[in-house]
Order: sequence, then structure tokens, then C-alpha cells
Amino acid sequence: MFQCPICKGAVPEEMLDKPKSTFPFCSDRCRLIDLGRWLDGKYQIPVDNDDESHGESQGGEPGDEPDDERSDRR
Ligand SMILES: [Zn+2]
Repeated sequence: MFQCPICKGAVPEEMLDKPKSTFPFCSDRCRLIDLGRWLDGKYQIPVDNDDESHGESQGGEPGDEPDDERSDRR
């Protein structure tokens, strides 16, 4: 069972088989409401900031530092 993101109502699974499907919305009305929200700019597209954190983990390689310490002591 799917939930309509607009009215939080249950979306009938029959909707998936219909040629003019309003999925994931329960009806054409809810689909238009969602479209209207997009046009109004009320929706904020989430920006993926994960790339930055990935860069940090890749940049600092913990394996290199211990080797440098050993070479310094020698
Ligand atoms: Zn709905």
C-alpha cells in the first residue's frame, strides 16, 4: 500500500496498472497540487553535502603518518 504525499491518503494499487497513472499520488488532483508546489518554489531540493565528507576521508590517509614518525626517529 502506498501513501499519497499530498493528502496522506492511501493510494490504491490499481493506480499502478492504469494507463494514466497518477502514482505516487492518489488522484489527479493531488498530482496537480504537488505540481503547483513545485512551481511556487515551496519545495526545496535537498543538496547532497556528502561529497565533501567523502573527500576528507579519502584525503587523510592514516597509514602514511606512522611511517613518517619512524623515519624521523632513525
Ligand atoms: Zn492524495
